Amino acid sequence: MQDRELYRRILGIETPWRVKSVDLKLDEGEVHVHLAHEPVGEWQCPECGSACKLYDHQPERQWRHLDTCPYQTMLHAEPPRSQCPQHGVKVVKLPWAEPSSRFTELFEALAIEFLKAASQKAVAGLLKLSWDEIHGIMERAVQRGLERRKAEVIPQIGIDEKAFRKGLEGIESVAMDMWDPYINSVKAHVLEADDKIVFDKFHVAQHLGAAVDQVRRGENKILKARGDDRLAGTR
Ligand SMILES: [Zn+2]
Repeated sequence: MQDRELYRRILGIETPWRVKSVDLKLDEGEVHVHLAHEPVGEWQCPECGSACKLYDHQPERQWRHLDTCPYQTMLHAEPPRSQCPQHGVKVVKLPWAEPSSRFTELFEALAIEFLKAASQKAVAGLLKLSWDEIHGIMERAVQRGLERRKAEVIPQIGIDEKAFRKGLEGIESVAMDMWDPYINSVKAHVLEADDKIVFDKFHVAQHLGAAVDQVRRGENKILKARGDDRLAGTR
């Protein structure tokens, strides 16, 4: 009983899921944790999230989880399938793993942390994973990253005449032309704007060029007024 409660806590298993049994296979160096769920009236369709009736269960699947000390740890469960009026029969989203993976999300997170610090070959050896498994884990991480990016605030933005409207929390810097309406607008919409406004290189160079031209034109006028046309023309 105690080991089941321990594993439920370690795995973060929440109702309706529970740990049914824990088998320690000493010879193989493996721990097998069997999960089951309480009777549930409705399951969410993975496509639209609407509450659906249980259709049936898939045959038992297993997922590799983080090791328990020196033991490889496997989760086992029969994934339920929901019956959605719109999307038909679908395997529900399980709280511990992505649909296409044979690893739990925590195991994949660990592998990704290792991959940041070591080569694919080293991580494959350390975690006893094949090349295909390493690549599968990396592909899913990239996919998750791309999906997260769609919802994230962009820390740096540039603004121009098309301006901007909303969603400016979390901005770290705003690149712009040196123009009062831009500066005032950023001050009105962005927290601590004074520290975040940067003038972009293109516009700084453009202003510099215009200023030099203006000075030259001014000098030419003075030279012409003095009657020194020959010198003015060369400038
Ligand atoms: Zn649906």
